[in-house]
Amino acid sequence: MPEKYQLPSRFGVHAPMAGGLMKSLQWAVDAGCNALQLFSGNPSAWVGVPWKQDLCDQFDAERRARDITPCVLHTPYLINLASPDDGIWTKSRKMLEDAINQARRSGSEYVNSHIGSHMGNGMEAGIARVIEALRAVLEADDSDVVVLLETTNGSGRLVGSRFEELAEILNALPHLSHRMGVCIDTAHIWATGYDISTAKATRAMLKEFDNLVGLDRLKCIHANDNRRALGGHSDVHEDIGEGTIGPAAFKVLVNDARLAHVPFILETPKKNPADDRRNLERIRSYQNQR
Ligand SMILES: [Zn+2]
Ligand SMILES: [Zn+2]
Repeated sequence: MPEKYQLPSRFGVHAPMAGGLMKSLQWAVDAGCNALQLFSGNPSAWVGVPWKQDLCDQFDAERRARDITPCVLHTPYLINLASPDDGIWTKSRKMLEDAINQARRSGSEYVNSHIGSHMGNGMEAGIARVIEALRAVLEADDSDVVVLLETTNGSGRLVGSRFEELAEILNALPHLSHRMGVCIDTAHIWATGYDISTAKATRAMLKEFDNLVGLDRLKCIHANDNRRALGGHSDVHEDIGEGTIGPAAFKVLVNDARLAHVPFILETPKKNPADDRRNLERIRSYQNQR
């Protein structure tokens, strides 16, 4: 098929880390993934434990043999690259470095991170801190791991809810553009107030993103429905198509050839791999069905 007609083909989930790397990979296999996301470390701890290299090698070989790619490492939730507090900001930089090192060791292509809060210091000050942190971390790192800035849910003082804020960060570091990208979380942008309840509205959102950031810099989509209202600044993830967003947005996204390069990672509610398998089957079934 000519490239321009290719559609997104990589669909995965955030696999739980209980039991270690190989158990997570097995979860992804059981769920029917061909892409994967994991936490880079304990999601509620500052200090990470480096994964053993032999385990990383085993994980990487098995993942590639099963054609599960890319692998995205999600940084712990404590990270705050926008913080005006030097102590927190320095620990957050270290956390990003640690995640990049886990990615390098484990052969993972992406590190996905929440950006953080300006903690009352104002959006411009927060953005300046983020730019400074990314510049320092990425200029000192010679790997090809790509850092993805995830859209946030519009609550409080969080940086990165609006596409304009993400564009400002990326545009400040043009020499690092090959090392940075954006992850759109559908539940988060819905919470911020980007209407994606219809096909038309979803196309308009993509157009706005393309104008401000560029679809070539969209490297991942977290595909989640939301139980909360549009613009409610709150996200409680729901099964694909069964929340307040509904199926229309997901049908548009998986059928857009401009997103053929984008992996879709589901962070939907789950008790076991069968729950993930059901949501993956649903989103895949939306292809060629607009
Ligand atoms: Zn996230
Ligand atoms: Zn997400």
